[in-house]
Amino acid sequence: MKYDQIMIRFGELSTKGKNRKGFITKLKRSVKYATREFKGLEVQSTRDRMYIILNDVDYKPVSEKLVKVFGIQSFSPVMIVEKDIDAIKDAALQYVKGLSREIATFKVTTKRADKNFPMDTNEINHAVGGHVLWHNQENGLKVNVKNPDLNLIVEIRKEAVYLTGEVIQGAGGMPLHSNGKATLMLSGGIDSPVAGFQAMKRGLEIECIHFYSPPFTSERSKQKVIDLAEVLAETAGHMLVHIVPFTEIQKVIQQQIPENYSMTTTRRLMLQVADRITKKREALAIITGESLGQVASQTLHSMYAINEVTNTPIIRPLITMDKNEIISMAQEIGTLEISNRPFEDCCTVFTPVNPKTMPRRDKVNQYESHIDFEELIERAVEQTEEVLIRRKRKVNQHVEEDLF
Ligand code: ATP
Ligand code: MG
Repeated sequence: MKYDQIMIRFGELSTKGKNRKGFITKLKRSVKYATREFKGLEVQSTRDRMYIILNDVDYKPVSEKLVKVFGIQSFSPVMIVEKDIDAIKDAALQYVKGLSREIATFKVTTKRADKNFPMDTNEINHAVGGHVLWHNQENGLKVNVKNPDLNLIVEIRKEAVYLTGEVIQGAGGMPLHSNGKATLMLSGGIDSPVAGFQAMKRGLEIECIHFYSPPFTSERSKQKVIDLAEVLAETAGHMLVHIVPFTEIQKVIQQQIPENYSMTTTRRLMLQVADRITKKREALAIITGESLGQVASQTLHSMYAINEVTNTPIIRPLITMDKNEIISMAQEIGTLEISNRPFEDCCTVFTPVNPKTMPRRDKVNQYESHIDFEELIERAVEQTEEVLIRRKRKVNQHVEEDLF
């Protein structure tokens, strides 16, 4: 089957009123970026559809890239047909004959966006369906409206008539960078990269923040986080990682905060440092990989005590998800294997034996009131190192870097 174009349906996007134009521009950018290795493609958009003009490029490898693009509800490889019922009938018949798979049943579904077309939906369904049936009498092809092997879609639009028998599900969500910027607290664990991915799916631009505590945590554990960020960069185009030295703060906490509250204070300090970086980077939210009740720091009481230190919205995409759901998502996005590498986390190294699962705000505030954290927080922010990860791709044996 030779297709002329790929037709892209936006789904949720189409209802976004005034912002729609900006959304479409961003989606177009994502589509162009995702398919940039195929030379000769052209991307065009109208109010409610986007089209990739294939110019003889095979649609299959292109569609493998498109299924990963956020903001696409579904898409179809389409044939362009003249706006004339006989031409549509002929094209439909050619389509059925050219199928590489056996079909026993089919139906025709017409969408008539162009109301000037002289026939209505039913008339077109009957005319096209009848024509296909008539020429397939010898092989017993039948119509099945409920569950056909082939749903032949005829879309009559102002600019042309599109014919397809295939609808491919897209990744859904919203186009990258269409919903503002947030920072992602990225540990080396399983959860936070998944949380970052979910946030990107909703159109957020993200920058990562990672806390590390040398010499208690090694270069290897830092590398692990960079590797995770690299996987995220494959979707985002690039990724900025802020690496925060956290040893000094952790040592002070260990020495001066009662052991059962050290975890709560550690998290509160992390959040304060993350908050400063978030503001510096003009981001408006902090994303974490927390899931309710998973560990002591993620009970509702803990979150209540930890969250006190900031007014910045904290987004927790995984909050209601079970661990095995998160694990299978990590597998799907390709971060699980990296997350499973053994490593020392700056939190696990200092984790007390019995962290409080029901810490109290008044108590933690009282313990912290004896320490001047301000200077320590400022120093951690100042000494934060930035690593920019660019998506890498192999082009004729050598690795090329490019930015979204
Ligand atoms: P993860 O698998 O993401 O590490 P976890 O189940 O191990 O999560 P915690 O270690 O309690 O849970 O961390 C909760 C969240 O706090 C993490 O998802 C992450 O967003 C953030 N976080 C924890 N440790 C770090 C770190 N070293 N650097 C940056 N963020 C961190
Ligand atoms: Mg962790």
